[in-house]
Amino acid sequence: MDKPIEKPYAHASNPCRQCMPLGASWAFKGIESCMPVLHGSQGCATYIRRYMISHFREPIDIASSSFDETTVIFGGEANLEKAVLNVHRQYHPRVIGIGTTCLSETIGDDVDRFIIRIRDKYPELPPLIPVSTPSYQGTQEEGFLRTVQGTVKTLAGQYQLTEEAIPQSDGPLLNLFMPMITPADIRWLKEVLSRMKIKGTLLPDYSDTLDGGMWSEFHPMPPGGTALEQIIAMDRADGSLELGSDYPAEWRPGYYLQKRFGVPNARCGLPVGIDSTDHFLSILSEITGQEIPGACEQARSRLIDAYGDAHKYLFGKKVVLFGDTSTVEALYRFASEVGLDPVLCFTGSPSGILEKTLEKLPLPEASANPPLIKENFDFGDAEALIEELQPDLLIGNSKGYKISRKMDIPLLRVGFPIHDRFGASRQRMLGYEGTASLLDRVVNEVMERKQSKSTVGYTYI
Ligand code: SF4
Repeated sequence: MDKPIEKPYAHASNPCRQCMPLGASWAFKGIESCMPVLHGSQGCATYIRRYMISHFREPIDIASSSFDETTVIFGGEANLEKAVLNVHRQYHPRVIGIGTTCLSETIGDDVDRFIIRIRDKYPELPPLIPVSTPSYQGTQEEGFLRTVQGTVKTLAGQYQLTEEAIPQSDGPLLNLFMPMITPADIRWLKEVLSRMKIKGTLLPDYSDTLDGGMWSEFHPMPPGGTALEQIIAMDRADGSLELGSDYPAEWRPGYYLQKRFGVPNARCGLPVGIDSTDHFLSILSEITGQEIPGACEQARSRLIDAYGDAHKYLFGKKVVLFGDTSTVEALYRFASEVGLDPVLCFTGSPSGILEKTLEKLPLPEASANPPLIKENFDFGDAEALIEELQPDLLIGNSKGYKISRKMDIPLLRVGFPIHDRFGASRQRMLGYEGTASLLDRVVNEVMERKQSKSTVGYTYI
């Protein structure tokens, strides 16, 4: 990575990140009958609800321990106890997830200790999962990952299961962990496992809770999500597979299960593009001993054909990629395969993972120079670079719209948040079919641009 830009100011200007408890709330929403409680002021829960609602277009409930001035001075234990009891009384959840916020972390609340005391006083409460998510330490991506690992640590192998609750299967049992992907992509992963006759526990599974259908009766919490018993039984699986970037051990649930219970663990990047999807399917087959379904071969062949058709539109087009680490890494691999030239890749995450990962990858065929890779980066800094680089296309979340509008560069919405387009939950990117869908969107964006800027008015492009 280049030297950090010397800023004439100390703030982030239109940051390329949201906050850690947002990721925690998102992950908790993928557990069946789980209510997130954010330990801090009400504004944190309100902001996060607003962001998630406008992206997923679903009702989102997130409780808060509702700090006030006295809580900040005397600590938030009494508020947390009250919040947990209220949620238990009103929603009857099977799990309560507790994420900290900047404020509770700054005053030094010992939430783990609070929970031990609350549990002693009220043994009838369901499992409480504490996660430390101070937003000044990372982004929503880190909050999401820490929450998944925290959930596994709190539940896997820690509770007794009845005989009926223990997962039974003729096929292999697999734990599958994903970073923040769309509900539609989760459904595709489930379909692949089902075709390969693998009994998978996907965590978190928000494919229904954040993208559900119409209800004929009221549910206090949306149906769906990974069942509590499945998470408790994760220590009995034949293996785990973690999707996403090469995150550090303290964010990785599969790593924890391997170390604590000896469950074999593997990792691969998000299966976007031909190479990455090939790799994902071969790892899946290797871990479980199951064959790759024939339908995958047909979808792969169609995608190769589409790559060929798209080449004349895309080769050498300069793109800027931004968003969460795993998403940017996956987009970079995809861009390299289809002949795009990624000139700038950036994320708001300060983790250092994006730089470490992309630097190891070969230079894309269409690139004369390695891309600029920026971490802990905001759109204020990105604007100056983009003006210099003059890319043909931006690929990332809706937060790039200001730059897109100001510089008249098209923006293809991918990732989170997507507030100014419809159908974010149904976007596909994973697997051969998902990649084809992403490819179609990229090519159409390029074509539309060419057509709208042409004085001739081409009808064939
Ligand atoms: S105060 Fe911190 S935790 Fe709360 S919304 Fe802002 S960044 Fe997120």
